[in-house]
Amino acid sequence: MSDENAYDVIIIGAGPAGSTLAYELAKKRKKVLILEKERFPRDKPCGGGLTAKVNSLLQFDISHLIEGEISGISFTKKFRDEISGPVMQTSIRIVERAGFDNFLAEKAKENGAEMIQSAKAIEIEDTSDCVRVAIEDGRHFQGKILVGADGALGITSRVVLSEKDPLFSFLVVLKCETQTNTEKNFKRKAKIDWGTIPGSYAWVFPSKNKLNIGVGGPVSIGHELEKYLDQWLEFNGLKKDEIKLIGHPEKCRINKKTPILKDRIILIGEAAGLVDYWTGEGIYYAIKSAKIAAPIIEKSLVAGNIEYLKEYEKEIDREIMPELEGAYVAAKIFRTYSWPIHKMAKYSKRMFRIGYEIVSGGKKYSDFKKVSNALKWIVPGMK
Ligand SMILES: Cc1cc2nc3c(=O)[nH]c(=O)nc-3n(C[C@H](O)[C@H](O)[C@H](O)COP(=O)(O)OP(=O)(O)OC[C@H]3O[C@@H](n4cnc5c(N)ncnc54)[C@H](O)[C@@H]3O)c2cc1C
Repeated sequence: MSDENAYDVIIIGAGPAGSTLAYELAKKRKKVLILEKERFPRDKPCGGGLTAKVNSLLQFDISHLIEGEISGISFTKKFRDEISGPVMQTSIRIVERAGFDNFLAEKAKENGAEMIQSAKAIEIEDTSDCVRVAIEDGRHFQGKILVGADGALGITSRVVLSEKDPLFSFLVVLKCETQTNTEKNFKRKAKIDWGTIPGSYAWVFPSKNKLNIGVGGPVSIGHELEKYLDQWLEFNGLKKDEIKLIGHPEKCRINKKTPILKDRIILIGEAAGLVDYWTGEGIYYAIKSAKIAAPIIEKSLVAGNIEYLKEYEKEIDREIMPELEGAYVAAKIFRTYSWPIHKMAKYSKRMFRIGYEIVSGGKKYSDFKKVSNALKWIVPGMK
């Protein structure tokens, strides 16, 4: 293989995870290639909600990309009994994924990362001294390290997981958008319905020029979601026939034993299942995992020793998994005790505030570790 096709690191996927990692490694003068199957700017099924936690990770001004800001929330339970909280200090900023992802990819390129678009990786060969990747048009590339940043449906996790490993869990999400400017009607508040189908939720995120609407839940109730979305649209006075519907899975690592690393291949972002099982948030974890991976990959390259990569899984388990486990506990508790929790949130401002702070990223699940550990014991199916 010619030198021009040989890289320190090949990253498959230019979502927030892949582009952040490419930026960080290119900054350290590593020879980085991103292979991306789409042509940018491309859309990605997503609510585009950036929680407050994301702000602390982003090192660029993204104010020109902000399409809206949510500073409050209202909940219904089975379309009834609405609870609407006050305007809060912590806000969720809304971006268009096409523009946001393109911006991050451009930043990586400006720093020296190479990116090939319309380059779908179709084959990965993990050898003792490098990883080879074949793309659809027949070209081959070689990297000392390969990073799977290819999202929920990518191919890299298939190479990392063996048959005996615990699998990722999946959520199913249906999403659509209106082109109506209704931000004012929603007064910068997101609307959430829950408890209509156990384990599911529905949302409306208002932004300047449109409403982002969707429903989601575990795969087991996937077949009921379209009907739920119809009801949710009707409840919000919206017409289904004017709206294009998109379905997409979300991949969640709820078990630390599910590997996210094998030899010289590591998984980041949603390829590693780093998604909140309760709220479906994934952008924060995509960027965070890339930032955790970057110095570890650099250290491994400098030392010429892939053993150092093992630190990545340990760091993810230490820094991110307590959050994802907290999310899983929250999802189970809300599923089982949705009615009393809704009532408590209605009558306790503190409870409402805590819920909002977690969803908007003002607080982490680990801030409530004692409560979460205690609640594990009353949640069916959990230890
Ligand atoms: C409907 C919906 C709503 C959501 N709303 C939110 C939200 O409001 N806030 C939030 O934080 N999270 C949300 N999420 C989750 C969030 O979208 C993801 O977790 C996040 O995009 C993960 O980032 P990533 O970089 O890991 O992967 P992705 O953003 O999925 O990027 C993966 C990239 O890899 C590319 N790729 C895939 N396979 C290949 C291949 N074989 N070869 C080359 N390239 C490949 C893809 O084209 C893509 O560009 C939502 C998800 C869904 C489905």
